[in-house]
Amino acid sequence: MSQLARRDFLNGVALTVGGTLLSPLASPGLSLDDVKRGAAPYPPALTGLRGSHDGSFEVAHALQGGTFWAMAGEPIDTGESYDLVVVGAGISGLAAAWYFRKAAGASARILILDNHDDFGGHARRNEFRVGGRTLIGYGGTFAIDSPAPYSAVARALVAELGVVVSRWQSMFERGLYARLGMAAAVFFDRETFGADRLLRVPAERGAGQTGGAAPGGREADPWAAFLAHAPLSEAARRDIGRVVTSSSDYLPGLDDGAKKARLARVSYADFLVKSAGCHPDVLPFFQARPHSLYGLGIDAVSALDAWGLGLPGFAGMKLRPTAGPGMGLDARPGPRSPFFHFPDGNATIARLLAHRLIPRAVAGCCAEDVAMARVDYARLDEPGPARLRLNSTVVRARHTSDRGEVEVSYVRSGRLERVRARSCVLACWHGMIPYLCPELPATQREALAYATKVPIVYTNVVLKSWTSFQALRVSQAHCPGSFFTTVSLDLPVRVGSYWPSRRPAEPIVVHMSRTPCKPGRPAREQHRAGRVELATTTFDAFELAVRGQLTRMLGAGGFDAARDVLALTVNRWPHGYAYQYNSLWDPFWIDGGPLPCVAARKPFGRIAIANADAAAYAYTDAAIDQAHRAVGELLPRT
Ligand SMILES: Cc1cc2nc3c(=O)[nH]c(=O)nc-3n(C[C@H](O)[C@H](O)[C@H](O)COP(=O)(O)OP(=O)(O)OC[C@H]3O[C@@H](n4cnc5c(N)ncnc54)[C@H](O)[C@@H]3O)c2cc1C
Repeated sequence: MSQLARRDFLNGVALTVGGTLLSPLASPGLSLDDVKRGAAPYPPALTGLRGSHDGSFEVAHALQGGTFWAMAGEPIDTGESYDLVVVGAGISGLAAAWYFRKAAGASARILILDNHDDFGGHARRNEFRVGGRTLIGYGGTFAIDSPAPYSAVARALVAELGVVVSRWQSMFERGLYARLGMAAAVFFDRETFGADRLLRVPAERGAGQTGGAAPGGREADPWAAFLAHAPLSEAARRDIGRVVTSSSDYLPGLDDGAKKARLARVSYADFLVKSAGCHPDVLPFFQARPHSLYGLGIDAVSALDAWGLGLPGFAGMKLRPTAGPGMGLDARPGPRSPFFHFPDGNATIARLLAHRLIPRAVAGCCAEDVAMARVDYARLDEPGPARLRLNSTVVRARHTSDRGEVEVSYVRSGRLERVRARSCVLACWHGMIPYLCPELPATQREALAYATKVPIVYTNVVLKSWTSFQALRVSQAHCPGSFFTTVSLDLPVRVGSYWPSRRPAEPIVVHMSRTPCKPGRPAREQHRAGRVELATTTFDAFELAVRGQLTRMLGAGGFDAARDVLALTVNRWPHGYAYQYNSLWDPFWIDGGPLPCVAARKPFGRIAIANADAAAYAYTDAAIDQAHRAVGELLPRT
């Protein structure tokens, strides 16, 4: 990271923006009225380093490092007693609270604890006040969009919350960018490819809604033109051109099952070079294609999954559209869930759950209202049947000596406090649970610890205008060698009174994502290295990277970082996606054997375990399904 910042500095980017860097306090989330009444900041409007923000993880790290209890002393008993305490205010924790309340009645006393200053977990909202209006971005969970249909349970909850997924078509201005002649591009960077070049891709295929550019079209001529302009070696041009239009069977003589079994055990990178006979120079072009789903590049994703994701090279292999053994959940063929996106992603789902549980703090009469409401954070933890306590890191959940209740201890504002509950749902990250409940059986602790998270960064940049994008006729770009691998203009979505940016001269939120990983190492080691990178990357380094990359991509279109960048929120998620099993790295996933997530989620006395980790599936529907199961395990006992 520091290398990148230095390189940008030497190349003049830092010099051109010198003195204009945004302080993380540039938009502190306070309106003038807030300042006058000495109110606390409004978390969605905080800029700078968000996601796992400073102050949210230190206690947990001390607990993991073994230093916490030596310093902590005895918890102070608050005297509070609840029917249910939920650890984790992500969608799983909020849904667990809601399911419990529906079963136990509106007077059930519920406390939800979370270590962050905002609720929703990964479903995080970013707000920006620009030129008299509010722009909204998603700082995490992007959409209702799962690679498999939602279960009846998850579908019912979404409907109960008032989200009508069939309205998506009328909310989304699908043709806005295309009408302006804009399309997807690839940005080649000089460090990886020898020259900075932004090239529109020949055709879009399988790019999904997020805007990851998908150079996978089949027309020979557009590809030839694209490759002729690409800063690639002759061998790479030849072999990319061949593989994207190929009708060869690279595993001749094998039947469908044998081909899939073989493809599941080799990386896509190895498949391209060893089976499809490509020159290794093609690899950097494809390297980052699975980043946004896997948090890994093509060195660590199987060729079978690459086929399922629509990457090129398989058209002539006559593979039947059915899953093979060990295929990743993201790549399996078959129907998907319907797509639906609020401007803040699924943070509105979290708000809708909070609205049901604590209407005094989250006002509104329908989903559109709640999506636009200003949450009154000061009221979340007021006395009432359900309470939500933020900035509270849970450090212990253990049964009382008669096993009749659970004591939950947490640190809030430096104070170690304790509450009691008849039942507890741990909807937090599974990697934390062995530290909260050391009494769990060793095999279960081991299974919980297997759920290492995938690091990822979602950055929202507010630009004064998007005329530079328009001048270059680009609405989104895949950047295989750059710091941020995707750059995309916000999806134009209209919700209630909220209108998207529709004219290039208007301000807009640009979304940039980074997947920190270390190609060549085993998957989980790559994730660990990515977490270390995120822990040591400063906001200034992220900001330099944003300004530098946008300048290099869009400078020819008139982009001027000093003039155009108005605000920046970096949502850093060192513990991001739930870990999904992978045929290259998890032998039980391809050879058969018990899944760690099944052992991990077993109930323990009055403690049940939820979170998307409990399904090893990084999607909102998993968070909901696991909440439903966990509460079901507790109910007969309450
Ligand atoms: C960047 C990103 C984008 C995503 N995009 C999508 C998408 O488009 N569609 C989709 O379906 N899914 C998406 N996902 C996955 C989706 O967000 C999750 O599956 C789902 O929201 C997880 O909810 P959860 O409640 O299980 O976990 P989380 O959202 O992680 O919530 C758990 C909460 O518990 C808290 N916690 C942990 N330890 C403690 C402790 N000791 N004390 C107190 N609190 C604690 C955590 O800080 C967190 O707030 C995305 C995930 C990420 C990271």
